[in-house]
Amino acid sequence: MTTQNERTRFLLGEHEIPQAWYNVLADLPKPLPPVLHPATLQPVGPDDLAPLFPMALIMQEVSSERYIEIPEPVREMYKLYRPSPLIRARRLEKWLDTPARIYYKYEGVSPAGSHKLNTAIAQAFYNKQEGVKKLATETGAGQWGSALSMAGAFFDIEVEVFMVKVSYYQKPYRRNLMEVYGAKVHPSPSPLTEAGRKILERDPDSPGSLGIAISEAVEVAAKSGGSVKYSLGSVLNHVILHQTVVGEEALQQFALADDYPDVVIGCVGGGSNFAGFALPFLRERLHKGLNTRFIAVEPRACPSLTRGKYAYDYGDTAHLTPLIKMHTLGHTFVPSGIHAGGLRYHGMAPIVAALVDQGLMEAVAVYQNPVFEAAVTFARTEGILPAPESAHAVRVAMDEALQAKAEGRPRVIAFNLSGHGLLDLSAYDAYLSGKLEDFEFPPEALEKSLADLPKVEMI
Ligand SMILES: *Cc1c(COP(=O)(O)O)cnc(C)c1O
Repeated sequence: MTTQNERTRFLLGEHEIPQAWYNVLADLPKPLPPVLHPATLQPVGPDDLAPLFPMALIMQEVSSERYIEIPEPVREMYKLYRPSPLIRARRLEKWLDTPARIYYKYEGVSPAGSHKLNTAIAQAFYNKQEGVKKLATETGAGQWGSALSMAGAFFDIEVEVFMVKVSYYQKPYRRNLMEVYGAKVHPSPSPLTEAGRKILERDPDSPGSLGIAISEAVEVAAKSGGSVKYSLGSVLNHVILHQTVVGEEALQQFALADDYPDVVIGCVGGGSNFAGFALPFLRERLHKGLNTRFIAVEPRACPSLTRGKYAYDYGDTAHLTPLIKMHTLGHTFVPSGIHAGGLRYHGMAPIVAALVDQGLMEAVAVYQNPVFEAAVTFARTEGILPAPESAHAVRVAMDEALQAKAEGRPRVIAFNLSGHGLLDLSAYDAYLSGKLEDFEFPPEALEKSLADLPKVEMI
């Protein structure tokens, strides 16, 4: 007999998919610093962003409404894979011999393989509503590119993807997947844009970076005369808004489990899966005076929150995007070619950056070998092969459980398993054959890239 206490999977019905996304801007203790125009350094208005995004997304970007309704067609598509399960990691707990209770929200059930489809569907929907026929975007490991390509196929929108070159060659199957969905994929830097050509002139062997790929995609949209819009898979407020569907479901699922997390963990590239999972729990903490801890996990090779500067910087390498205040390693920083391609971004979501700056969230940085060690343990106990990005969260969830064991006290740990790693097997191969480097963070490179930060008077 299985009693309620022994349940492993906490599942919701389709009708329990949240009706609204949660907008943390309504609850932030201090408002976010304004976003600045790259030429005038004055706060941007909606019209400045109109060449890149449809107006509905721009209005979400600046909205201070606490809840924004999820359009019915978006909820309908969410039904393909939502609500995603919340799973109690009973076999991992046993293996660790810990008094901690570990739960994970599994976003790898999305047909694109990660949480990214949550915002890809929403963004494609709003673009379609405003008559957009083509979207340009960047992708690191290819998770975002696959999600947007799939959403493009659903809404009959063409998708052009600039994929960071090192990942383009590390992860050929991701490119194949995007092409199956009908997208066009280029390795970045590419000779197709001015931004790409400039980088190639200086460094023909550039491995690429998300900052460079963003420049190329933004350039394609900006020069299209309105026929192409740009789409971003993380960082921006509206992307994080869409991802809160994850945390809203998790809150309902913890009620089913009759439990509540002491610590909420997620990996951070641009910050969207972590924030989407954590922010509804942060709302509860602020409204109810709870002590929930929030931990963002980043790679030691690209440690924006733990080693970067909280300052205004460009979102891309070629200075085409507005300036945002965030923890940044500098827009010219090119991180080592770690396998968690989705975590190789120089900046951070301004929402996550502000919350870390205000002490409401913590951050830690981890090396890739211990990350893969945790991922393999997770696969051998729970069965799921984590994406290398998500494995960063697994590492820290396990560390928290081991700490609880050392203290001999229970602790409820919740983490977001943002995606599966079935298309990342070459990374696992490198780990298992002992070929993975624990890239040490290069302080000289940081000094150089921080010197390139734009000079902006502090507001
Ligand atoms: C893209 C990606 C990330 C990193 O991006 P965030 O915006 O920080 O979530 C993490 N995990 C997976 C599986 C991804 O695809």
